[in-house]
Amino acid sequence: MLRRKKGENEDMEKVAIYPGSFDPITYGHIDIIERALEIFDKVIVAIAHNAEKRSLFTVEERLEMVRTIFKDTPNAITDSFKGLLVDYVAKTNAKVILRGLRATSDFEYEFHMASMNRSLNTHLDTLFMMTSKDYFFVSSRTIKEVASLGGAVEGLVPDLVVRRLKEKFKLPVAKKKQIGWDD
Ligand code: ADP
Repeated sequence: MLRRKKGENEDMEKVAIYPGSFDPITYGHIDIIERALEIFDKVIVAIAHNAEKRSLFTVEERLEMVRTIFKDTPNAITDSFKGLLVDYVAKTNAKVILRGLRATSDFEYEFHMASMNRSLNTHLDTLFMMTSKDYFFVSSRTIKEVASLGGAVEGLVPDLVVRRLKEKFKLPVAKKKQIGWDD
């Protein structure tokens, strides 16, 4: 059996990279990050510059939202990257890519990506965490769709994201309390 020798890697930080579009970040993502922080010393939320995907928020806007949300959590680092994920990961001391799974429909894409990343770098592994029952139906895409039509997304994304969505879609932003879309 292969066992780690005493002293070996004991003081090495356990770092995971959580890559994605985060356009915008939702409580589904936040739940994964918080649970991962129970396992890893550090989680790097890495926002991908993806020219192929049309995004609602710029990378800078997405970085600002994630940074603000995790401002009191020093072990959650926020960054962005261009190009291949494996090249970005190689510049950090992470050994693990973290991804969330919501439904079997996520599985095939994630399986292909994890296999491709492993073939590009055999030292890298992808770890999947199951969504929580409260957020299995939450995706950035549906949040944007619902918000663009004036639907309520409170409770599914942080208040800061609710405000940013309203600003993007030019919907009224409540001054004190978020009490709905018609205030
Ligand atoms: P991408 O654009 O790479 O699919 P996303 O920003 O949509 O990235 O999501 C990043 C990761 O978080 C993905 O692994 C995705 O499956 C996962 N994720 C998104 N929403 C949820 C959720 N509600 N519960 C659990 N995981 C989620």
